[in-house]
Amino acid sequence: MEVFDVVVVGAGNGGLVAGATTAKAGYKTLILEKHNLPGGCATSFVRGRFEFEAALHELCDDATNEAADSVQKIFKRLDVTIPFYYEDRLFRAIVKGEDGYDVRIRPGYENFLDDMEAAVPGCRESVKKLLDLNNLLDEAQAYMDSPAFNPAKLMGEYADFVKAASHSFNDLMDALGVPQKAQDILNTYWGYLGVPTDDMNALHYLSLLAAFIKTPPSMPYHRSHEMSVALVQSIISYGGEVRFNSEVSKFLYSEKGSVIGVEVNGEQIYAKKVISNIIPNNVWNRSEQKHIPKSALKLANARKLGMSFVTVYLGLDASMEELGIEDYSVFISTTADTRRAFNERADFGMYVVNCLNKALPEASAPGTSMLFFTIPVMPGDFPENMKPEEYKKYKNDYAEKFIRDYEQTMGVQVMEHIEEIVIATQATFARYLGTPDGCIYGYANETWDNVVARTILKDVENKVPNLYFCGGHSIRGDGYPSGYITGAMAGEKAVKDLRRGK
Ligand SMILES: Cc1cc2nc3c(=O)[nH]c(=O)nc-3n(C[C@H](O)[C@H](O)[C@H](O)COP(=O)(O)OP(=O)(O)OC[C@H]3O[C@@H](n4cnc5c(N)ncnc54)[C@H](O)[C@@H]3O)c2cc1C
Repeated sequence: MEVFDVVVVGAGNGGLVAGATTAKAGYKTLILEKHNLPGGCATSFVRGRFEFEAALHELCDDATNEAADSVQKIFKRLDVTIPFYYEDRLFRAIVKGEDGYDVRIRPGYENFLDDMEAAVPGCRESVKKLLDLNNLLDEAQAYMDSPAFNPAKLMGEYADFVKAASHSFNDLMDALGVPQKAQDILNTYWGYLGVPTDDMNALHYLSLLAAFIKTPPSMPYHRSHEMSVALVQSIISYGGEVRFNSEVSKFLYSEKGSVIGVEVNGEQIYAKKVISNIIPNNVWNRSEQKHIPKSALKLANARKLGMSFVTVYLGLDASMEELGIEDYSVFISTTADTRRAFNERADFGMYVVNCLNKALPEASAPGTSMLFFTIPVMPGDFPENMKPEEYKKYKNDYAEKFIRDYEQTMGVQVMEHIEEIVIATQATFARYLGTPDGCIYGYANETWDNVVARTILKDVENKVPNLYFCGGHSIRGDGYPSGYITGAMAGEKAVKDLRRGK
C-alpha cells in the first residue's frame, strides 16, 4: 500500500505548482497525470517542421511583475527560471461594419492612454480613472488572498471594491463616463474570457486588462511546454514524484467522509491531503454519491460551464513578411457589441489570430511562419447527434470558413501556403482535458459567480475534509496566472494544515 502526504490529481498549471509547493515544504508528494506529458492546456505539439503552441496567446502576469502573487514570484520561489519574450503591441482590433474601426494599442500605462486618446479623442481622463481603480483592486485582492482575510473587514474597508464586484464591466465604464467607442476598444479581450461585457464581472475583467497593460504580453521561448517541464523538474528536485499515464478513476473516502486517497490504474494510493487540479464535476463523478455534500453537488450544477474554443493551427511555407502579416494578436469582429458578437460567434462574431513569429521570429524555420486561430464556442454549440464519420468535414468546414474570412479581412493569402494544419474543437478539448463539454476555463465568470464571491465563500463551499481545489475552475477564474496562483494557494493551505496536524 502506497501512502503519501499529498497526492495531486492532474499536472496542469495548478497541479504542478501545488505539487511543487508541497514537495518544497518537505512533504512526500505524488502528482498523477492521465497523459504522457505535463501541462494540460499548457503544452505544445509538433507537426512536420513546426512546434505549435497549444494554448498560450500571451502571459499577462509575467516575469517583471513584482506583485506578491505574480507568476514571476511563484516561479522564483519554486526555482523555475524561464526566459520570456515580449511583444511591443497589446493587440490590433478590427471591427467590421459601418461603425467599425482598425486600431493598434500598445502596452504600458502611458502608451495605452496615448493610443486610446488617439483612437477616441477626449477619452483619456475617463480611461485613466478606470485603470486607476485597479490599484484598489490589487490591494483588495492581496488582502483577500492573505491569511488575515476576513469577509466582514473586506466589506467595511474595501466597500468600493465589493460594490464594483457585483457589477458588469459595461456598468463600471458607464459609471465612469467612458465614451462608447473607447468602451468598445477596452472590451477587446472579452473573447479571451468568453463572457460578454454586459455580464462580465467588472473587477475580473479590469484586473485582466490592467495586467496586460502593466507589462507587455510575454511568451516563453519554447512554448508553454517549457514552463510545464521546468515545473516537473522543480518537483523532482524537491523529492516529489510525477507519474504519467495515471488517470485517477476514483476518489477514496473514510467512513466519516474525509478524502483519504485515490484509485489509479486499479491501484489504491493513500494520502493525508488530496489536491484536485480537475474540475469539481469530475471529482464528484469519481466519488461515491453518499460522500458528496449536497451543497457541493448543487453548486456544480448551478454554475455555468465556461467557454471552449475551436482552434486552427497553421504551419505556412512562407514567412510573415512574405505573406504581409504584421501583427502578433489580431482580434477580428463583425460588431463592437460584445453581446451580439457572442451570439454570432459561429459567423465571425469575434475571433483571434496570432502569428507567433512576430513575438519570436525564430519560432519556425526561416521562410516559414505559423498562425493560431482561436474561435470561441460555448457548451451546446457542438451539433447534437453528430456521427463520427461527419466530424472531419464539420471541423474542416469550420476552419476553412474562418481562414477565408481572415484572408479577406486582412488581404493576405494563406490557403495556398498551408504546409501543416491541425484543427481542434470542443470535442478535442473534452477528450484531452476530460472536461464536461470540453470547457477549457472551468466555470464562467459571470457577475453572480465572481472572484470576490468565490473567495469569500471558498471555505464554506468546499466541505470535504482533506480535499483542495486549484486550476482554471477555481476561485480566481481561468488563465495561466490563475492556474499557477490557485495552485500555490492550494499547496500552501495543504502545507499549513499538515503542519497543524489538521
Ligand atoms: C486554446 C487555448 C488558448 C488559451 N489561451 C490562454 C492565454 O492566452 N492566456 C491564458 O492565461 N490562458 C489561456 N488559456 C487558458 C489556460 O490554458 C487555462 O486556464 C489553464 O492552463 C488551466 O490550467 P489548470 O490548472 O486548470 O489545468 P488544466 O490545463 O485543465 O489541466 C488539468 C490536467 O489534469 C489532467 N487530468 C484530467 N483528468 C484527470 C484524471 N482523472 N486523472 C489524472 N489527470 C487528469 C489533464 O490531463 C490535465 O493535464 C487557453 C486555453 C486554451 C485551451
